[in-house]
Amino acid sequence: MNVAELNVLKEMLSSPKKIVITTHKGPDGDAIGSSLALGNYLIKKGHDVSVITPNEYPKFLKWMKGDKQVIEFCHNIKKASEITNKAEIIFCLDFNTLSRIDTFEPVVSASKAYKALIDHHQQPDTFDFNYSDTKACSTAQMIFEFINAFDDLDYIDRDIAECIYAGILTDTGNFRFKSVTSRTHEVVAHLISKGAQTHLVNDRIYDNNSVGRLKLLGYCLNDKLEVLPEYSSAIINLTHKELDRFNFQKGDTEGVVNYALSIEGISVAAFFVERDGLVKISFRSKGDFSVNQLARDHFNGGGHINAAGGAYGSDINKAIEKFKEILPNYINTNN
Ligand code: 5GP
Ligand code: MN
Repeated sequence: MNVAELNVLKEMLSSPKKIVITTHKGPDGDAIGSSLALGNYLIKKGHDVSVITPNEYPKFLKWMKGDKQVIEFCHNIKKASEITNKAEIIFCLDFNTLSRIDTFEPVVSASKAYKALIDHHQQPDTFDFNYSDTKACSTAQMIFEFINAFDDLDYIDRDIAECIYAGILTDTGNFRFKSVTSRTHEVVAHLISKGAQTHLVNDRIYDNNSVGRLKLLGYCLNDKLEVLPEYSSAIINLTHKELDRFNFQKGDTEGVVNYALSIEGISVAAFFVERDGLVKISFRSKGDFSVNQLARDHFNGGGHINAAGGAYGSDINKAIEKFKEILPNYINTNN
């Protein structure tokens, strides 16, 4: 955190402000956990806070304090725009460039509010306040550090602690990734001391599957898994028709890509899915193979070195073909 920028923000937050918190399209556990943790903290500090997401998010994240007040921009354009136009500060969490908030972007760009970035993705754009830490395991851990920088750890109650824990848990693949450090565990220890019921958070996030979701996963593994041993890679794809067959609900395909990566000897995995007339892709890797770079170069996307996403036209077969075509170049440069 840049001290001069932090001081400006501290000064602004020393009196009640109208604040908007937003996060990336297709919000995940870190996006929602960070946003509601910061939101609940700022409300406790006396600010007027609205959390606005570009679109909807999965049911297994709809239990955090403040969830009912979250405004989904795509379904409430007028209200969300009015609030954003009046905002004095806009916090941008868990994304690195405004195009990640999709149709909400023009509204945020046009706003005269002071814009503060808190994020851990690679190659962030410049905002008014910039707290970027590409080594951080999650934006949620950065929210903890941000609150700490205000000497406000006493404000963290059970609700805020569970929001932060949810973000750390989901963005670290349940504390499995290289990004997890001793500091991550110190932060979690602190959250537990504040009352976070970690077993309940795990239960709400991971033990809330519909039968359809599990059958869809079974179908992916049984029928749709393609292994390319020569490139240490594996692919899974799902068409719109297949999603319908399993009564797809938002969030049902989250984590599917990790099964492809879990195969012995596989170090790159890709999951292709037809959604909203686009082919959306999730990339995962192990070691030095940068899926961030691959997603940036060819799929209009980005993310982290070992977890990234992007999109490619509307023809899923063409998207897969493209991936297979470029893969050899990346294997050569990365290994
Ligand atoms: P996921 O595959 O879980 O959707 O996303 C993996 C990571 O890549 C997340 O950190 C996410 O924010 C980022 N990501 C996913 N899709 C995109 C995209 O289209 N563009 C960019 N820049 N990042 C993405
Ligand atoms: Mn994140």
